[in-house]
Amino acid sequence: MSKITTSIYRPTPANLRRLAAALRRGELVAVPTETVYGLAANALDARACRRIFAAKRRPTHDPLIVHVLDLRQAAALAEISPAAEKLARRFWPGPLTLVLPRRSTVPDIVTAGRDSVAIRSPVHLLARRLLRLTGLPLAAPSANPFGYVSPTTAAHVRDGLVGRIRHILDGGPCRVGVESTIVDMRDPARPKILRPGAISREAISRCLHRAVRLQETGRPAGNARGELAPGMLEQHYSPRTPLVVVGKLTASVIHAAPENSGFIYFEKPSDIRLTGQEFWLSRGGDAREAARNLYAVLRRADQGRFARLWVEAPPGALGPLAGAINDRLRRASAGR
Ligand code: AMP
Ligand code: MG
Repeated sequence: MSKITTSIYRPTPANLRRLAAALRRGELVAVPTETVYGLAANALDARACRRIFAAKRRPTHDPLIVHVLDLRQAAALAEISPAAEKLARRFWPGPLTLVLPRRSTVPDIVTAGRDSVAIRSPVHLLARRLLRLTGLPLAAPSANPFGYVSPTTAAHVRDGLVGRIRHILDGGPCRVGVESTIVDMRDPARPKILRPGAISREAISRCLHRAVRLQETGRPAGNARGELAPGMLEQHYSPRTPLVVVGKLTASVIHAAPENSGFIYFEKPSDIRLTGQEFWLSRGGDAREAARNLYAVLRRADQGRFARLWVEAPPGALGPLAGAINDRLRRASAGR
């Protein structure tokens, strides 16, 4: 197989036109969004979407999220109930994905054969520029090899997919840093959060004037009938180094850890002597900053040749992003 050359593009108008043309031809383009970098393809082109699975080595039972400009474009792909429309009007563009009854316009490969499709409208200006220039809905999962830590910079994308994709659009680091909140709206009377993200369950509940359930974690991943969210519960977002999540990195935890351990604090510690084994998600204990740094820190720590990484879970009281970080850490450490 001839080696593919991977290029990183600055977001100039000429490059954006070039990348939009590549997407229209059925090629893949890694695109910055406010959550993480996505690996985009024309969502209406089954062959192009199949290339996403091949590049990521993603199993085809794990469906893709389709990115759209607005509700109108979403309505061509899915049935929008009044409740779903309410959420879209309140939170789009932004990090909220709606799982909705699909229309036949959506290829099976995108939905993994399900009768529902996941859709969101990103707020990131460059993602929107490509949506506008192509005029297409863009299927885009995270732009990383399946199961590994998600990418929040163009360099992260290159590290994981070099030689496997041609085009990476560089939009700098992602502002939110963790994946979108996914809410299952197949049955508008029974909304359910499938994945926690920056948009909180409370905010969704307030918008809909009804209780919103949270998908239970710790159970096995989606079954063949697709009742649970696929790709949600198995090990995911994982560094290669075994990861242990602890409530607090106390002196006794650190003492008991094997010598060749790396320690990831939630907040930069001020009272210890740094030895090069320490990392932190935030300077001042801020969950938004921690979410923004999460994947870059996991990647750096993963390169430290540690035998084991110990990471502090942020206090849940710090809001939706603390919940999202805890969810990702739990899955990054699952099966270890
Ligand atoms: P990502 O890898 O961030 O693109 O996330 C895609 C995830 O969205 C999948 O792993 C599923 O958990 C979820 N998802 C996508 N489509 C559907 C669907 N039709 N029904 C339920 N969950 C979905
Ligand atoms: Mg992913």
